[in-house]
Amino acid sequence: MPRSRGNRVVIVGGGWGGLTAARELRARAPDLEVVLLERNAAFWSGALSNKWLAGQVDTRLIVHDYAAAAARFGYRFIRADVLDVDRAARRIVTAAGTLDYDWLVLGVGIRYDYASWFGDDRRTIEQTREQFPCAYLPGDETARLKRKLERFAGGDLVMNLPPMPYRCPPSPYERAAMIGWMLKTRKIKGRLIILDPNPISPVFRRIYTERYRDQIHYVDGATVKRVDPVKHTVSTEFDDYPFDDAILMPPQQAGDLLWRMDLIGRDSSGSPTGWAAQDPVHLHALGDERVFLVGDALGPVSPLFGHYPKSGHLASRQGRIAAQEIVARVRGAEPPKLLPDSVCFVFSDFEPQEMVRIDSGYRFRGDGLIQQTVKQVADPNPRNEDVDWAKAMFADFLGAA
Ligand SMILES: Cc1cc2nc3c(=O)[nH]c(=O)nc-3n(C[C@H](O)[C@H](O)[C@H](O)COP(=O)(O)OP(=O)(O)OC[C@H]3O[C@@H](n4cnc5c(N)ncnc54)[C@H](O)[C@@H]3O)c2cc1C
Repeated sequence: MPRSRGNRVVIVGGGWGGLTAARELRARAPDLEVVLLERNAAFWSGALSNKWLAGQVDTRLIVHDYAAAAARFGYRFIRADVLDVDRAARRIVTAAGTLDYDWLVLGVGIRYDYASWFGDDRRTIEQTREQFPCAYLPGDETARLKRKLERFAGGDLVMNLPPMPYRCPPSPYERAAMIGWMLKTRKIKGRLIILDPNPISPVFRRIYTERYRDQIHYVDGATVKRVDPVKHTVSTEFDDYPFDDAILMPPQQAGDLLWRMDLIGRDSSGSPTGWAAQDPVHLHALGDERVFLVGDALGPVSPLFGHYPKSGHLASRQGRIAAQEIVARVRGAEPPKLLPDSVCFVFSDFEPQEMVRIDSGYRFRGDGLIQQTVKQVADPNPRNEDVDWAKAMFADFLGAA
């Protein structure tokens, strides 16, 4: 691309955060040049993907073309894998060439930390990812998981949960209820064994025991210590779990690019936290006010509650905040102090349907710390609120009809 004329904002990552930033920048500052870099050709939604796995929503609802969204809003989309960023030179290195920026928004999401199971054994990592996909990254992994579930004919299916923090914390429990329902309704002689290192909500525990006693075996306090993808065994501190098939969820961390750019936080002992280090309010990288971070990759924002929930809704709100920050700075105005919010719809059962709506709100406490309020409401008679919400979000940041 030609050199920037001093007004170029580049967004890396076309997820909920990056797409919203692109759309918001375009709408608020027509004088800025907005470029979105993304490695995939299409957007895949994690939200509603469990329902898609169960065949309850159409592919057209959760998969959207990037080029069409860019054309609708009028920014430039380039399909490219970003390899590195030279922050001193403000230059982005992609597999397809280099590009300079004046402002950079990074919405790169998460990466899987298979290394904590397999060290640098690349072959085993690739084999595990291929054969036992967990579908927590956008892309065709979700389609592979769907095929796996459709083919599952019986036996033990092991699914472990990653330690907190991870993307959309209630979603593996929802997926488990969905698998229990599939096994029961399809009369498959098999069971799902859930290995969970985190505390489970009473709602899901009740559903698993009352409705899926024969289909779901839930194991508390189960942190995965070893995985043998060849012998088909997962081991915790206490037991070995042989499996016929598995959904293996490695621990999660901020996306690869942030590690390469040295944007990962450190704890008091100097070890990497695994998540980005950003200003909790203005969202710029610490020590670099030309680089903004949005979405699930962020590190803790408040000593009162730690991380924001890693949800698409919240990532989208941060995309909007980052865009407003950049526009204010370009105009020489004081950046606003804005906080996000989050809404999440989780199904605890599929027939009859039971849903929980989780609303998270944020405000500044008197001493300036960010305070969180979480409200959970169970809905035993949902009427498509989740689909309506997703359609509204996709209309907003993808321009989808
Ligand atoms: C099963 C499941 C259910 C969920 N349910 C909900 C829900 O009901 N509600 C909700 O709000 N959220 C839900 N989520 C969470 C939601 O999907 C995430 O919070 C959201 O995707 C975070 O957005 P993001 O922009 O941070 O990252 P992502 O959406 O992951 O986007 C990051 C993008 O960056 C791209 N990228 C990364 N690195 C590079 C690079 N170097 N070069 C080029 N491109 C790059 C990736 O390809 C990706 O497209 C769910 C997630 C899952 C998996």
